[in-house]
Amino acid sequence: MNVVIFGPPGAGKGTQAQNIVKKFNLHQVSTGDLLRTEIKNKSEIGKEIEEIISKGDFATDDIVNKLIKNIIFDPQKKNKLIFDGYPRSLNQAKNLDLLLESSNQKIDFIFFLNVNKDTIIKRIERRKILEKRSDDDLNTILKRYDTYMETTKPVLDFYSKNPNFYEIDGSEKIEVISSKIEQIITL
Ligand code: AMP
Repeated sequence: MNVVIFGPPGAGKGTQAQNIVKKFNLHQVSTGDLLRTEIKNKSEIGKEIEEIISKGDFATDDIVNKLIKNIIFDPQKKNKLIFDGYPRSLNQAKNLDLLLESSNQKIDFIFFLNVNKDTIIKRIERRKILEKRSDDDLNTILKRYDTYMETTKPVLDFYSKNPNFYEIDGSEKIEVISSKIEQIITL
């Protein structure tokens, strides 16, 4: 089973992805984490990524698609993937379909965590204090939200036509969202 979980920054994708990973024994693929690892390793590409992320912009599709490819073709992770924060653009969504198809896989469930801007701002402010993430100052948050609306909206339109697309109210409590997702998966 492969799962895509997406929604605006601060919607709780990471938290829900971790829960699904534990319950269904999947591998979490967070492009945010992959990008932060490159930054930490101070690789050439990492320096480029740092500049982009600190401005609240998205990494280029090229960079992200490269990072994702190795994971999809890893035989140990085949059909055990949960994508968190990817795809974030129509190009990435189409690239994901192509990569999965060429490795004989598909997406079984697509979850869209829907939350409004006010809830997201409050949550990210809290996360900023807890995790001290450098990209989380308020201006960056607003920029990230706007970037999300602009770039990820076409992904939503693309996926919402899919029969295995599920929209979930992301403003509910963590446990409530988790149990809704588990119910859908185990149905
Ligand atoms: P996240 O941890 O998912 O909130 O990601 C943190 C930042 O990494 C985002 O604000 C983007 O700048 C960048 N990022 C993460 N995933 C992607 C992606 N799939 N495509 C482009 N940029 C990404």
